[in-house]
Amino acid sequence: MRILITNDDGIFAPGLLALKQALAALGEVVAVAPERPRSACGHAVTLHKPLRLTRMKLADGSEGLACNGTPSDCVGLAAHGHAGPRPDLVVSGINRGLNVGLDLWYSGTVAAAMEAAINGLPSFAISVDSREPVDFVPAAGFARYLAAQLRAHPLPPEAFLNVNLPVGEARGVAFTAQGRAAYEVEVEQRSDPRGRPYFWWAGGRATEPASPGTDADAVAHGLISVTPLRLDLTDCALLSDLQTWGLRWPE
Ligand code: MN
Repeated sequence: MRILITNDDGIFAPGLLALKQALAALGEVVAVAPERPRSACGHAVTLHKPLRLTRMKLADGSEGLACNGTPSDCVGLAAHGHAGPRPDLVVSGINRGLNVGLDLWYSGTVAAAMEAAINGLPSFAISVDSREPVDFVPAAGFARYLAAQLRAHPLPPEAFLNVNLPVGEARGVAFTAQGRAAYEVEVEQRSDPRGRPYFWWAGGRATEPASPGTDADAVAHGLISVTPLRLDLTDCALLSDLQTWGLRWPE
């Protein structure tokens, strides 16, 4: 099995190395990741400048390919055979920080798994709670287990998985829905040395309890959250409702 790994924390992120070492037990692992951290870049792809892949030595002496683009660029290049033969599986992570609830709309980690699904490749994203001390070893072990399971249980087309691990030793696994976990976003305004205003996203994770059955709730209860996602974003209930609005055009 050929496994492509990528992330949005960059080619030298310890989570990527932990993933690479754990998945090596299952086959050939190729790391193609952004040359610098790209967290919260979403599904951006690079259309306006050349993309390059540069061979790098990782901390364990093995090789990886650094890309000057985004996580989705990395997956796209690999899916089109530019990082060796097309992979059989794509794993994105291990991200430092949970990707739950509304994070999924911003996450480069999750977008990379989504890009794999767009390219017809089975995939999952995997993230750990960023509260100190961050230990990537349990997540790496679970990634290996899940990757092996996917051989016996292939994902349907256009579906992929989003995995989140709690701090410390997980009590088990929960299959969950995407929740509504969000941030209490504030925008701080400050002044630069020339007296001009600049702005900085601030604020922290919202403190309200997560709904039962959701990704954030499982992690809050010490469980590994596994959420099935799919490319189709249609709101089916609203689709039915729209039919009843009586909209006509031309009027
Ligand atoms: Mn990240």
